[in-house]
Amino acid sequence: MAKVLIVEDNPTNMKLTCLLLVTAQHTVLTASDAETGLTIARTDLPDLILMDIQLPGMNGLAATVLLKQDPVTAAIPIIALTALAMKEDQEKSKAAGCDAYISKPLRYQELYSTIDAILAKTTHGNGNNHSEAS
Ligand code: MN
Repeated sequence: MAKVLIVEDNPTNMKLTCLLLVTAQHTVLTASDAETGLTIARTDLPDLILMDIQLPGMNGLAATVLLKQDPVTAAIPIIALTALAMKEDQEKSKAAGCDAYISKPLRYQELYSTIDAILAKTTHGNGNNHSEAS
């Protein structure tokens, strides 16, 4: 059970992603653009961020770079979401600092297994590894 921030501009994708996370008993925070996502990330310090790559204004890769440069948010794992299932996008999201990559349309098994793997790597027993930032 984690606090997950979803940054996604498409209402249908947002609804589906929220539903899948709530079903897995995660707490969900939402933002429909990168700027709002950055603000929520800094103030609420989620355990995990699902970041759509294609966003209006600042894209998800630029937002990821900013989050990873900021000591307050650098430790938060980021899973990139993109509709473009291209090797190049996978490489770009890795270069930007994303911890994992999921292509849309979302498959719930892949979403759950990726989230579980990331949380298992970053959680050290107390369920919160961001205490240095508080
Ligand atoms: Mn989008």
